Amino acid sequence: MGSTDFAEKRRIMVERDIAPRGIDDAGVIAALGRVPRELFVPEYLAELAYDDSPLPIEQGQTISQPFVVALMMQAAELVPGARVLEIGTGSGYSAAALAAMGCEVYSIDRHASLVEAARTRLERAGCAGVHLRAGDGTLGWPEAAPFDAVIVTAGGPSLPEPLSRQLKVGGRMIMPAGAEAGGQRLVRQRRTGEDAFIEEDLGRVAFVPLIGAHGWPETTRTEARRRSPALPPDAAERIRDAAEPLPEVDDERFGVPFDRIADARVVLLGEATHGTSEFHRARARITERLIARHGFSIVAVEADWPDAERIDRYVRDRPPAGSDETAFARFPDWMWRNEEVAGFVDRLRRHNDAIEDPGRRVGFHGLDLYGLDGSIAAVLDYLDRVDPEAAAVARERYGCLAPWRHAPETYGRAALTGGFASCEKAAVDMLRDLLDRRLSRLVAAGDEGWLDGEQNARLIASAEEYYRTLYMGATNSWNLRDRHMFETLRSVMAARGPGAKAVVWAHNTHAGNSAATEMGRQGQVNLGMLCREAFGTEAALVGFGTDRGTVAAASRWGGPMEVMEVPPSHPDSYEHLCARSGKPRFLLDLRPGRNGPLAEDLKRFRPERAIGAVYRPGAERENHYFQASLPGQFDLYVWFDRTAAVRPLAPTAPLPDRTGSSAGTGKSTAHR
Ligand code: SAM
Repeated sequence: MGSTDFAEKRRIMVERDIAPRGIDDAGVIAALGRVPRELFVPEYLAELAYDDSPLPIEQGQTISQPFVVALMMQAAELVPGARVLEIGTGSGYSAAALAAMGCEVYSIDRHASLVEAARTRLERAGCAGVHLRAGDGTLGWPEAAPFDAVIVTAGGPSLPEPLSRQLKVGGRMIMPAGAEAGGQRLVRQRRTGEDAFIEEDLGRVAFVPLIGAHGWPETTRTEARRRSPALPPDAAERIRDAAEPLPEVDDERFGVPFDRIADARVVLLGEATHGTSEFHRARARITERLIARHGFSIVAVEADWPDAERIDRYVRDRPPAGSDETAFARFPDWMWRNEEVAGFVDRLRRHNDAIEDPGRRVGFHGLDLYGLDGSIAAVLDYLDRVDPEAAAVARERYGCLAPWRHAPETYGRAALTGGFASCEKAAVDMLRDLLDRRLSRLVAAGDEGWLDGEQNARLIASAEEYYRTLYMGATNSWNLRDRHMFETLRSVMAARGPGAKAVVWAHNTHAGNSAATEMGRQGQVNLGMLCREAFGTEAALVGFGTDRGTVAAASRWGGPMEVMEVPPSHPDSYEHLCARSGKPRFLLDLRPGRNGPLAEDLKRFRPERAIGAVYRPGAERENHYFQASLPGQFDLYVWFDRTAAVRPLAPTAPLPDRTGSSAGTGKSTAHR
């Protein structure tokens, strides 16, 4: 990409992301219009430099979102010649913007390597004269004080006293402060006299932590934990020894080695992506075996309940739903509307056709009664009509590259965008309305009776909280969703009577026990963890992984499906370790007492890859790996060295229709 293209992107960024959001300081706007942001991000992210988001830089830190940089500069009320102290040099980008405004800039970062990289970047960008230093910025830069402004680009518990004291009388400090989980308040402190200060609250934001004498202490949640333990030299060999070869994935015998978990009440089958053919085909074979030989009668999937219900009507030969909606027609449609799932649904129908008693036929259910994907689509649709700016915020949040990762600064933006907050009530009301309609349809259709009055009331009572958190894209929406899916699973099992056995299909990040992941350590629960707690060893958690190949995914939330290349896994990752074994396909038994020395090797946290509906291979390491302990997450791990994207159904081929025509029983017609 040439420099003129970047200049054009920069112009668009200022017009689209800065000026319309209440930034009217001409000096700030001009400065952001001049600084070549592409020189301040790692080279592989240059293409994304003008995206409306923070981006990862070295040392596990971030370069701030352009809007947040502009907001802090404007709040500091700067004029050319102002003496400014910045705490948190990071990439050097905001220092460059301050210099471009004509300020005399002093900037400190606690990481010497970041300071050196920023020095080079500033030089390359033609920014001379910025004073840089490595050290604890919470102590300030006394020799250069007093300052007209202090800008702190990391969040601390409170405003550091030394920094307040280094302000001129009349000077301003802008800093994210506060101890709330997941965020801070952006504070402007003004020194009005020798010992007089006033503070204003500029809204909620979320920044990476300020670590220092007057900030947070260094904790376990720092970069140290991000470093992976060295690979034991013989780990790949141990994997080779422990690896049990698996038949071809389409071979009916593929499910046989899974007889060992047949005693479980619940078997959770994961996937490392939402668009891999082999994962679906393998899950289908294992599920068929568990159904045919071991009495499993429920298939429950990580999907919206109303869509799955249409499939259930087909596989159990129940009357049509009386609505002409197509199952799984919304983004990410390829996740379920594909040849692999259609084949499975077909075979399920054939299995059920041989069972006389309808009560004993295998059911197919979606675990999400609130309808996550449908709800997000409805919110986006609504916001597009009433407030396109708020719609852009929502898209960014829902399209967050990896929902299981924290992208602290993006959370600030919604709070600072008035339109987003003011649309909350209307959006939540609309979603509740949708839920009411969904439930009354369910009751009218006399669906199964498992959704009794009590469950109905419980759903409605907690819908408000669920939709509000979902709308705000807050971090705890994950917990609400997984608890909700778990409750639905329990209800479906209870309706089948004591001893009912279920197979669950969900992403590894839902199916693996989150207690053994970095998300769990930060308070995230998931389906795997809740099942483990409720069923103990009667829950079997099975993970799936791959090294390379292709995958179906979109580059942004709501975007079209693309078949993307999956590059070979990161050298520190579990996947790389499996790939090094040189075996194309295998099963690892990680249960206690099975492969002790191997489980010991694999126990320590290391990166594991997770690809969702949205995938950005260009920024893989930052966005698609999380830290986990594989033997803590899963009982069994299924490995495919190379995998391919799912084969999506044509848009005109509704999933149950298609299977209806090929089932050949004559009993069923199009249930949509
Ligand atoms: N302004 C930066 C930019 O434009 O790229 C972004 C800064 S990043 C959000 C926050 C930075 O604060 C990190 O680079 C981190 O190392 C730094 N930091 C955290 N605690 C610090 C401290 N006590 N002193 C100096 N820097 C600190």
